[in-house]
Amino acid sequence: MHKRLFIPGPTEVAEVVRQEMSRPPVGHRSEEATVLGGRVISQVQKLLNARGPIFLSTSSSTGLMEGVVRNGSARRFLSVTCGAFGDRWHQICHMNGKPVDALEVEWGRAVRPEQVRQALATGKYDAVLLTHNETSTGILNPLAEIAQVVREFPDVFLFVDAVSSVAAARIDFDGLGLDGLLAGVQKALAVSPGFSLMAVTDRVIERARGIENRGFYFDFVRHYASYEKKQGVTTPSTSHLYALDLQLARILEETMPAREARHRLMAARTRAWAQERFALFPEAGYESITLTAVRNTRGVDIPALNEQLAKRGAVIGNGYGRLKNETFRIAHMGEIRLEEVEELLGWIDEILGLC
Ligand SMILES: *Cc1c(COP(=O)(O)O)cnc(C)c1O
Repeated sequence: MHKRLFIPGPTEVAEVVRQEMSRPPVGHRSEEATVLGGRVISQVQKLLNARGPIFLSTSSSTGLMEGVVRNGSARRFLSVTCGAFGDRWHQICHMNGKPVDALEVEWGRAVRPEQVRQALATGKYDAVLLTHNETSTGILNPLAEIAQVVREFPDVFLFVDAVSSVAAARIDFDGLGLDGLLAGVQKALAVSPGFSLMAVTDRVIERARGIENRGFYFDFVRHYASYEKKQGVTTPSTSHLYALDLQLARILEETMPAREARHRLMAARTRAWAQERFALFPEAGYESITLTAVRNTRGVDIPALNEQLAKRGAVIGNGYGRLKNETFRIAHMGEIRLEEVEELLGWIDEILGLC
């Protein structure tokens, strides 16, 4: 039996979208592939309000995170981290031998714009790495406010990991003046895992041209050439392109305001449930709208709870890394509807004898 995914990725994929993946492959330099690529690009541009280059990457999101590290800074990165995915970006800088300093915020708390301003005022940095929705702690960082601060420093580029917020929270890439934003398809975009996308500005490409040793697979100059041709850098997963083409059309049809409202409703319901029975992990006012991180105040055995949920055809997420068992995470993103969240919460109450 399939277990419905209330984990923070991968998420449920609509049947029609999954079926798109079984289409026969076409040559990746063919007219069909080029038309398909062009259609996906223009839908991503609409989704993010980004008029500039879009990269389509046959990799999980972490590949593009590494791409940013290889291409995004000519001097020194400031990696802003409030959880495991921010830490990952910082670690990728280290492993690529890139100069970087971390601005570390306590797990469970959000990044404050003032902290970013103070760090940038040192004049040491030409690029900021920021996680929008920190999936490990359930924090949604105040992106608009932070972007406004970064714009006070015209030569500093802001790169955003929006892996678990794109297609749930509205993001105005051009309006916010971001320089790069990346997302995998297996979170709120609700497509099978293995593919990711990114919006960048032209000045990112200009900077990349002057940087040595950009690597090959995630060389943004090569990705830019591919964007212009509407083709993959190497052989892309055309299965994902087909699925993404349909799923983006479905998302744009639902409309982003409606989609964000649906996510906010599911999050509010889950938070209310969690506050009555447990406590929330993230600080008040900055809770994610795609997942709820719950403080496991009752010491519930999460694997055992999941065994019981499995019998009902569902699975939730344990805490991430060092937060395992101390917290657990209920994801409500992508295809999941409020009724399904209600059903899940009812099951948990029943299993734990909380009702
Ligand atoms: C899931 C996730 C990632 C990693 O994505 P992959 O597609 O597994 O590489 C990175 N950042 C955030 C915020 C995530 O939620």
